Amino acid sequence: SFRRAHRISNLEISEIVQISERAAARKVQGYDIVSLSTGEPDFPTPDHVIEAAHGAALAGQTRYTATLGTAALRAAIADDAGARPDEVIVSTGAKQVIANAMLATLDAGDQVVMPAPYWTSYSDIVTMAGGTPVIVPCAMTEGFKLTPAALESALTPRTRWLMLNAPSNPSGAIYSREEILALAEVLARHPHVWVLSDEIYEHLNFVPFCRFVAVAPELRDRLLTVNGVSKAWSMTGWRIGWGVGPVALIKAMGAVQGQITSGACSIAQAAAVAALTGDRTLLDTRREVLRARRDLVVSALNAMPGVDCASPDGAFYAFPRITGAMAAQGHATDADFCDWLLDHHNLALVPGRAFGLPGHLRLSFAYAETDLKTGLARMASALNGGN
Ligand code: PLP
Repeated sequence: SFRRAHRISNLEISEIVQISERAAARKVQGYDIVSLSTGEPDFPTPDHVIEAAHGAALAGQTRYTATLGTAALRAAIADDAGARPDEVIVSTGAKQVIANAMLATLDAGDQVVMPAPYWTSYSDIVTMAGGTPVIVPCAMTEGFKLTPAALESALTPRTRWLMLNAPSNPSGAIYSREEILALAEVLARHPHVWVLSDEIYEHLNFVPFCRFVAVAPELRDRLLTVNGVSKAWSMTGWRIGWGVGPVALIKAMGAVQGQITSGACSIAQAAAVAALTGDRTLLDTRREVLRARRDLVVSALNAMPGVDCASPDGAFYAFPRITGAMAAQGHATDADFCDWLLDHHNLALVPGRAFGLPGHLRLSFAYAETDLKTGLARMASALNGGN
């Protein structure tokens, strides 16, 4: 009979994907569902990027590329990151960069510290790679950010990595220069701890954003920066992400990748070169659209009884606390609350527990304003009317 490997005995499809799939299934059954559950911009991939892909395919760039990525894309990334091309690996989405890094470095029992709320996949990837996630809850009152004291007390001799993500999915939190410096000061005392800084939402910021490497260059020899084109350039389906870090780590990640995918898609890599080197004014335009949506969403959420929402500094998610609303509606958990919204009010949202911080939910505002307004009106009427 079938038996799973121990490593993945409890691994499931991401809760975010499960909810999106449940919402899609109800839509097929004829329900008029509004889903604000997915972290995927509704904007199209820019035309010049699509044209570059077309051109590359016609020009014969249809073969295996070097495992670590094409010379052109690694050069463009190195240029963007202020690094050398041999410090760059290109992978099939930022997710694979993270998976490569964990598979390349973790032994059984190695610990990875992650502030919660964290992106759902972090803990699953670490577990899949045989490591142990060490989750540090960071409350809304702390801006959902890791404090130096909380970091210090989470570190042990078995800590291999600290995983940071800013702008954060799901909280939108961005660490200021001072906050990064304070964390770096702790890390300086623990030279065995490496840092993974996931900056995939870099360009989706409403306050100034600092790259970790720019603030703490002294940690460069144990820092992996993760980024990609998925979010800023609306290229989720093209599956291109990258890591920038010390050559020994990049080589180890390349060894893993070489046995899993052989490397990223040649045509998508050509498209990513066009994204990185092309005109970036559209990033500014889209940021302002998202800012307007953010303001709409945050004020609508705060007007609902039992809902408390901080204004996110970046990314495209609101992460309100809903403990008051849960109690008022008789739901013991945020998952029950989200099930109720989907089953009775045709609105799909993701419970906070999927991000390691229960008592919240995540609403993605990477959707058209009409969908946002309809979804928010449904939630408001659910909370004001009940049933
Ligand atoms: N990192 C974070 C924080 C994300 O939210 C996501 C996507 O949701 C990713 C990485 C993965 O990006 P990609 O689609 O490039 O694999």
